[in-house]
Amino acid sequence: APRQLPPIEDQLKVINEVAEKYIKAATPSEEDLAIRKELKEDLEKICQQVSPNGTLELFGSVASGFATVNSDLDLIFCEDGEPREDPFEVPIKLTEKLKQAGFNILMLPKTRVPIIKVNSTPDPNQDTSDPKKAIAVDIGFGHKSDLAFRNTELLQTYAKCDARLKPMVLFVKWWSKMRKINNTYRGTLSSYGYVLMIIHYLINIVKPPVLVNLQSWGIPEGTPESEVRHKDGWNIWYWKEHKEQELLAQNGGITSNKADIGLLLRGFFEYYAKDFEWNHHVISIRTKGGLLTKVEKDWKSAIHRSNKAEVEYKDRYLFAIEDPFETTHNISRTCSSTGVKRIRFEFNRASRLIHFFSGEQAFRDTFFEEA
Ligand code: ATP
Ligand code: MG
Repeated sequence: APRQLPPIEDQLKVINEVAEKYIKAATPSEEDLAIRKELKEDLEKICQQVSPNGTLELFGSVASGFATVNSDLDLIFCEDGEPREDPFEVPIKLTEKLKQAGFNILMLPKTRVPIIKVNSTPDPNQDTSDPKKAIAVDIGFGHKSDLAFRNTELLQTYAKCDARLKPMVLFVKWWSKMRKINNTYRGTLSSYGYVLMIIHYLINIVKPPVLVNLQSWGIPEGTPESEVRHKDGWNIWYWKEHKEQELLAQNGGITSNKADIGLLLRGFFEYYAKDFEWNHHVISIRTKGGLLTKVEKDWKSAIHRSNKAEVEYKDRYLFAIEDPFETTHNISRTCSSTGVKRIRFEFNRASRLIHFFSGEQAFRDTFFEEA
């Protein structure tokens, strides 16, 4: 016989209680954030020994406010003017300087663009008394106009539109880390990908919508061209002023959904477990309706590419999430065939648990269990 479940309000109380506990555990303290800020300043000084006019700029979750206690520090060393002839010149010099300063460094050889990883692997000889040496850092190389800063700002703006987005992100990130489906080097999805999945759910799936698509509105007259088009041609405009968001709140009805986090999380996991068509759909938060198809985008078989530095890489479309600005870029191209299977398995598992199909206690005890 089917198990008797408590009334829905009581079920939601449990989910909210568990969510609150894990969200609290995932939220970095003021001190954690202060240490990251100091570390950024230390690293910037070292970068400027290599290129005095460059600046080290923050993006990713520490900038957007979606950081957890485990989050890395995402940085780009920005130089003005034309890109350098040899994109590896500054990174190689910087690697040396960072090693001299006692940082544990890994330079990734097979990436599209140079990336230096600081403190990413535990070094047994490392001074563990220095908390800064325990924070993982990614240093990329680029320009202040890079889309990474734009998409970070877009996420930050969505977070301002509705206070439920941030806790949902922290919950899903914690879950994906514990279930080991948040690792781009091991064939699964980046945190950025999970955030886009949540935003799509909140704009296009949940009824009434919690968020309004900030990119699909008419561009106000007189908007400077630099706000509309990126130098590489991408459309980068979206509603971003606080005033405009209030207007959206009034006109788009983004405040009329009063569901709590528990109910939204249930719906989120259920959507990706049941309704989203992984083989056909492309998540596209910029698009009205939020979905395109792989056929429409011609995102079918894997493509081998090589970049200026003759580095080969593969674009895969087993799972498809379109970048909100660079629309030829599949955010989930890092997902392997087994990676997608595992992600789907985990959504099914999570959906069953959060609906208490194995009872309330199973949800409490095993939802965040380490895989
Ligand atoms: P975490 O807290 O786990 O570090 P995060 O929000 O910083 O999460 P990351 O996945 O580290 O997310 O991504 C940081 C930034 O890197 C994103 O804001 C985005 O600009 C960029 N990014 C991440 N993954 C991709 C990707 N697959 N393609 C393009 N840009 C990406
Ligand atoms: Mg990050």
